[in-house]
Amino acid sequence: MSRLVQARRLEGIDKNIWVEFVKLAATYATVNLGQGFPDFPPPDFLKEAFVRALSGENHMLHQYTRAFGHPPLVKILAQFFGKLLGRDLDPMTNVMVTVGAYQALFCCFQAFVDEGDEVIIIEPFFDCYEPMVKMAGGTPVFVPLRPKAPKEGKLMSSADWQLDPAELASKFSERTKAIVLNSPNNPLGKVFSQGELELIADLCEKHDILCISDEVYEWLVYDGKKHIRIASLQGMWDRTVMIGSAGKTFSATGWKVGWTVGPNRLLQHLRTVHQNSAYHCATIAQEAVAQGFQREIELYGKPDSYLVQLPKELQQKRDWLVQSLDAVGMKPIIPEGTYFLVADISEFKSDVPDVPDSDEPYDYRFAKWMIKNKGLAAIPLSAFYCGAHKNNYNHFIRFCFAKEEATLKAANDILQKWKREKTSP
Ligand code: PMP
Repeated sequence: MSRLVQARRLEGIDKNIWVEFVKLAATYATVNLGQGFPDFPPPDFLKEAFVRALSGENHMLHQYTRAFGHPPLVKILAQFFGKLLGRDLDPMTNVMVTVGAYQALFCCFQAFVDEGDEVIIIEPFFDCYEPMVKMAGGTPVFVPLRPKAPKEGKLMSSADWQLDPAELASKFSERTKAIVLNSPNNPLGKVFSQGELELIADLCEKHDILCISDEVYEWLVYDGKKHIRIASLQGMWDRTVMIGSAGKTFSATGWKVGWTVGPNRLLQHLRTVHQNSAYHCATIAQEAVAQGFQREIELYGKPDSYLVQLPKELQQKRDWLVQSLDAVGMKPIIPEGTYFLVADISEFKSDVPDVPDSDEPYDYRFAKWMIKNKGLAAIPLSAFYCGAHKNNYNHFIRFCFAKEEATLKAANDILQKWKREKTSP
């Protein structure tokens, strides 16, 4: 037998929703609310910083920089997050820059998870956590957020999806190495409350485990809600790696600049993985992001701050999409944060009949049908669940509302037309 076959670590993780849905959207969708990226430009100050870095006098910005983060960027990130966390951060040991938050996650699982270790993942979850844990030889252990019925006549909110404390506690074992927390959460848009974070923190302390805290949507929080960093809770700094993304912070997902912030005792191991894999992320992009943060630290909390303006704009976009969906009966779950909104497709099921005993969850079939027949792209929610739980959550789809007003209007037109066709005899 040929030895030119896949390595053990790829077994069972070869299927990926994005390959198929990105292609489908590119082929059929006139309105793409599928993958999570803005179709509006990043702020001018960021683009200008990039241009300055690219064509300015300092030609060394075209060369390698420090592996663990371009010095101006780690310095400003240490200052920025130091201020938010109320502690002195050392730019060289408490911060590491990565190729997007994606690579930060990869470094965490490679650095901390051994064969046989368990990692708790809260469902629904950003889908790459599961294969990344498995690639490291670990076993993902899933615990779902459970939806509570909303008050009579009210739309459901992402806050109605909650952990059952006893169920969560039951997932911790002697083999548990870490829990992944993603607040604000992709895909639901849930922003975990202080109480929920304390519950998780207490279990982390009790079982002496790590928290991998994916906070890429930290600035995208609506209705006056506050994003709470679990690392700021009593006893959590020492066991938490915070992960962030310039892609989400500055609406420039293609730049792929991310970071980790945490204690040196944890980050030293991330540095080993990073050094021996990506080595570093494009110097020019790091330089521009450093300047973006320099501006933001000066304007912190002020009306001109991009981090104040962006959530305001996105909240408005969220509200437009909520109205569009609610008006046609595709019930939206109002997200407290992020780029995303999950909607209940139950009332549209008659348009896309189920195929009994199919291997494919119903929401996959529905989303594909919608892309091909209505030209509107969204992502099936069950893609954010493990194999065993997919069929429990197969009547929802996720929309991305980080889009221009014109894109959201075009989506509204499609939904309205669809509704008219449904109701006309
Ligand atoms: N975590 C979550 C929850 C995300 O939604 C994403 C991007 N969709 C990432 C991490 C990856 O971020 P980046 O683009 O910075 O790699």
